[in-house]
Amino acid sequence: MRHRRETPKDRGILSAPRLHSGRSAAKGRFNLVNPYGYQGPSIFGYETDTPLRRAAFICVHTSPLAALGRNDAGGMNVYVRDLACQLARLGLEVDIFTRRLDPHTPELTILCPGVRIINVTAGPSQPIDKQDIFPFLPDFAAEAVLFSLRQGVRYDVVHSHYWLSGWAAHLLRRYWDTPFVHMFHTTAHMKNAVSGPGHREPALRLQIERHLIQLADSLIAANPAERADLIWRQHTPTDKVCTVPPGVDLDLFFPRDRADARRRLGLEADARIILFVGRVDPIKGIETLLQAVRQLATLPGPPPTVVFIGGEVDEQGRPMGALATVASEAADLGVADQFRFIGSQPQDQLPYFYAAADVVAVPSRYESFGLVAVEAMASGTPVVASNAGGLTFTVEDEVSGLLVPPQQPEALAAALHRVLSNDMYRTDLSEGALRCASRFTWPAVATAILHIYERLAEGVRANLCCDDEIYA
Ligand code: UDP
Repeated sequence: MRHRRETPKDRGILSAPRLHSGRSAAKGRFNLVNPYGYQGPSIFGYETDTPLRRAAFICVHTSPLAALGRNDAGGMNVYVRDLACQLARLGLEVDIFTRRLDPHTPELTILCPGVRIINVTAGPSQPIDKQDIFPFLPDFAAEAVLFSLRQGVRYDVVHSHYWLSGWAAHLLRRYWDTPFVHMFHTTAHMKNAVSGPGHREPALRLQIERHLIQLADSLIAANPAERADLIWRQHTPTDKVCTVPPGVDLDLFFPRDRADARRRLGLEADARIILFVGRVDPIKGIETLLQAVRQLATLPGPPPTVVFIGGEVDEQGRPMGALATVASEAADLGVADQFRFIGSQPQDQLPYFYAAADVVAVPSRYESFGLVAVEAMASGTPVVASNAGGLTFTVEDEVSGLLVPPQQPEALAAALHRVLSNDMYRTDLSEGALRCASRFTWPAVATAILHIYERLAEGVRANLCCDDEIYA
């Protein structure tokens, strides 16, 4: 409808001017003026109005307001929330469409100034397994369209998150005729490569993801390896996929006093503390951590305490559901006394846990980005992480922490021991961690994303990726 078709002029003659610098974006100066098109009075065939005013985010299976660290809620929710609010600060309004999970939730909630969450009724208004959502996507798309008609709003770009939302974005295009950017937040293809036989992703997901590679106008990969995989193994056209990592909230995650944090959390002043933060999911490599902790008990020095954040505990603080299984595995390995299972925590409490810890363990089989590792580094806490996925690019080996092969408890135990038993080394790593995390600022990330949106809203499909390289 609004965006004009790509012309030979766009493809050939025009080269993409730099629209923003990180600095200008940080100051909130968002260039809303069409830099390519005719800027005089309205003439048929030329747009004289602002090409990019409002974006729709599609986040079908989980809301940015979901409790983090439980069920499926984690990095993607944080990403959607923080990116939307950052874009709104730069002048782009965002509506986030998510599936209604409760009949009493209002249709509209304000997430932050300029960002609304729209609860769309599609399928039962209650939580259902994400594998069962696909049949409700046509209803989801139709209801989202009805909302936009009722409200009289139109969207200049759609940004979908996860394969289910990608398919909804594809269905929505039939009505809205709006370009869409898709972010997989890990593909089934990559997840299956590291998962055990009982945890393989369904064929439907693989099939839809293959279609999305063709259907989306642009794909965002969270790390360079993911981009390479999309191009070389999944045959995505090179200029369709840009690497833009998530950002980290550096106003929340910064170094704080360790002794003070331990007092506040009721943790022993002189304990050796390993922190784990994450969803209780096989991809997180929790079994590797359990076995590594057993090995650590055989190495010199007092046995460390593992503060384990994620999953659910009951009112008495007893682990429930999947977390109860982890606790019983710890008991079987004889390390139950070393673990403190405290369940998921609101994100604004995490800075104290990062500050209290000597080291943060991220033993994942795979991470598309690994926000926890970067949040820990931004808090000045060294990380021992798997040499997998996005962690390979965020954690600098021997600088901000240590990288170890995934699923190898001996290697994880040895690296944790090295960090725990040498105060000077830990101080060096802490300084390196701060340096490494400082790259991932939201203004830099939002600038790169805006660049893609602006090109697409203009009807341009070339030079989508920003010149700025956040991964230096
Ligand atoms: N998180 C939280 N509370 C919890 C557990 C996790 O706030 O109890 C947040 C954490 O701060 C991070 C995100 O959830 O921002 C997890 O992101 P990550 O990329 O590490 O993992 P994912 O969930 O994407 O696999």
